Amino acid sequence: VFITLEGSEGVGKSTNLAFIEQWLKQAGHDPILTREPGGTPMAEEIRALLLQKREELVSEKAELLLMFAARAQHLDQKILPALASGRCLVSDRFTDATYAYQGYARGLNLSWITQLELLVQQAVRPDLTILLDLSVEVAMSRVQRRGETDRFEQEKTEFFQRVRQGYLARAQAEPDRFAIIDASQPLEAVQSDIGHVLADFFLK
Ligand code: C5P
Repeated sequence: VFITLEGSEGVGKSTNLAFIEQWLKQAGHDPILTREPGGTPMAEEIRALLLQKREELVSEKAELLLMFAARAQHLDQKILPALASGRCLVSDRFTDATYAYQGYARGLNLSWITQLELLVQQAVRPDLTILLDLSVEVAMSRVQRRGETDRFEQEKTEFFQRVRQGYLARAQAEPDRFAIIDASQPLEAVQSDIGHVLADFFLK
C-alpha cells in the first residue's frame, strides 16, 4: 500500500505524518516512512541541492529534472522494494507536489510533468493521497508564529495560492485517490478526519 501526504507550507504535514505513522502501527501495519524530495542518500543530496538558495538554481527545467532524478532513485531503492515486500509505505510528498510546485506554481508545462511521470514511474501511483488544505493566510500566520518566516519570504503569497489551487485541481481530477482534509480545524479534528480516511481506506 502506497500512501502520500501532501500540502503547501504551514499546513501541519510533519505533525500529521507522525499521527499517520502511529495510526498505522496501532492498526497492525508496519509502515515505512519516507519523504520527497529525498528518501535515499543520493536523493537526499539532490534535496539539499534544491533547498539551497533557490535564486541560484537558475533553470526551472533543471529543478523539474532534479525532482524526477531524485524520484527515480527513490523508487528503485526504496519505494518499489517496500511495495514488493507488501509493506505499507507513507511518503511525505510525491509527484502531486511536482505538479503543484513546478507545474501550477512555477508555470512549467503540465504535460512535460506527465511525460516524466510516465518515464520514471510507469504505472506506479499512490493508492491514497491525503491532502492537507489550508488558506494561505492561515498557513502563513502559523509559520510566522513558529518563527520560520524565511520559508515564506522567498516566495510571494501568490505562489502559494497557485500551489494550493494546483493541489485542489489534482484532487478534483482524481477524487477516488484523494482525501482532502480541512487543516484549518483544531488539530484533534484534523486527526480525527485523517483517522476516518485511513479506516475507510483499509476497509475497502
Ligand atoms: O516537504 P517540505 O516542506 O520538507 O519541502 C521542502 C521544501 O521544498 C518546501 O519549501 C517546498 O516548498 C519545496 N518543494 C518544492 N517542490 C516540490 C517539493 C517541495 O519546491 N516538488
